Amino acid sequence: MSTKDVIKLMKDEEVAYLDVRFTDPRGKLQHVTVIADEVDEDFLEEGFMFDGSSIAGWKSIEASDMKLVFDLDSVYIDPFYAEKTLCVHCSIAEPDTGEAYDRDPRGTAQKCEAYLKSSGIGDACYMGPEAEFFLFDDVKYSVAPNKVSFEIDADHAAWNTDSDFEMGNLGHRPTYKGGYFPVNPSDDGQDIRSEMLSTMKRIGMKVDKHHHEVATSQHELGLIFGTLTKQADELQKYKYIVHNVAQAYGRSATFMPKPIAGDNGSGMHVNMSIWKDGKPLFAGDKYADLSQEALYFIGGILKHAKTLNAFTNPSTNSYKRLIPGFEAPVLRAYSARNRSGCVRIPWTESPKAKRVEARFPDPSANPYLCFSALMMAGLDGIKNKIDPGEAMDKNLYDLPPEELADIPTVCGSLREALDALAADHEFLLAGDVFTKSQIEGYIELKMEEVQAYEHTPHPVEYGLYYSC
Ligand code: GLN
Ligand code: MG
Ligand code: MG
Ligand code: MG
Repeated sequence: MSTKDVIKLMKDEEVAYLDVRFTDPRGKLQHVTVIADEVDEDFLEEGFMFDGSSIAGWKSIEASDMKLVFDLDSVYIDPFYAEKTLCVHCSIAEPDTGEAYDRDPRGTAQKCEAYLKSSGIGDACYMGPEAEFFLFDDVKYSVAPNKVSFEIDADHAAWNTDSDFEMGNLGHRPTYKGGYFPVNPSDDGQDIRSEMLSTMKRIGMKVDKHHHEVATSQHELGLIFGTLTKQADELQKYKYIVHNVAQAYGRSATFMPKPIAGDNGSGMHVNMSIWKDGKPLFAGDKYADLSQEALYFIGGILKHAKTLNAFTNPSTNSYKRLIPGFEAPVLRAYSARNRSGCVRIPWTESPKAKRVEARFPDPSANPYLCFSALMMAGLDGIKNKIDPGEAMDKNLYDLPPEELADIPTVCGSLREALDALAADHEFLLAGDVFTKSQIEGYIELKMEEVQAYEHTPHPVEYGLYYSC
């Protein structure tokens, strides 16, 4: 859209405000609202100054000015605000030079797409994320969830699906891992999910389905794939709508990867493909009808998986999900059939739909950084012809210990992932997609979370050690 088109849209739709949105390094959508009278063509062209020093991981107080650059193709009317408001997603620029700010995650995603083109490997990459989430009762469990969780065991699986903390009648509540796919009343999220999906459709998002997931009160909505930066924008809208529709129903949505010990966690599988000259690069005549490039792409993902964990699984809680037995991967292996490895090749007869699914990412990830890092690892695989090894067409959870010992794993903690990122990140720096300073800033930011977590006594420790 041109600046003229946006001004016309605002007039035609009688828009009262412009909501200016961007994403911080942790992945949270941020916003500032400007009254429509202030918005003219010059304003849209020049961008909007703000103080970046209050955003964790960005500038220091002495050099805090930053500029928001509007992506006018990203506009949509906010579906929740009482006053009619047009939203626009932004990237960040240095105010003096106008250059992209290197710690802006959205800028990284844009550079990643440009790098793909300049590498000659492909002209476009498509990402299809599947972000799972839980819905909890808003009032009771917002009080102190960590205080109660360790008292609850598998016999009381459904304690936090509804108003059942007092352990009322749980007859229609799915037990642990029992949520996939019974109709209501076992599935108590039908209307909420439908409203979430309709809201997404109303603001122009491409969506296809929704369903209850395997864990108690766990859900997933289907977002149709799109190009990398645009799809990260879509995921930000997805989370925004999930949180706000849940809130309107008196529920609370969470994308934290492992809210309940003993039940499945929430993943964010990322389906990926590259196209060149209007043709799908990943379709071919090798294993699972993949091309040689697709196999090398998988090789890159598996090789750099521990570094990727810093972006794809960037919370201390992420590593409570990456354990055996809960449909989340641990081993760095790939397969067309089983879901227990890091990479799966979903079944399809159509070469156009041929894609590679990374199963280790989770929805606590910053989607711009997560998608970019995955793509950079895959491209490194293609450039350096990294062999992914043999496919593992067996249930990896059931492997005997002697076979297990030979297969590398993903990281076991955020600390380990940050160490891996510090040690192996050359592939991210290609084409200046990520920068050294950005990676250093990211490690510093995330290490604060590691320390907060490691320095805090855990409820489980009280159970284990209080009377020692
Ligand atoms: N919840 C599982 C995970 O943690 C995925 C389940 C599924 O979508 N098949 O990744
Ligand atoms: Mg799915
Ligand atoms: Mg799922
Ligand atoms: Mg999947």
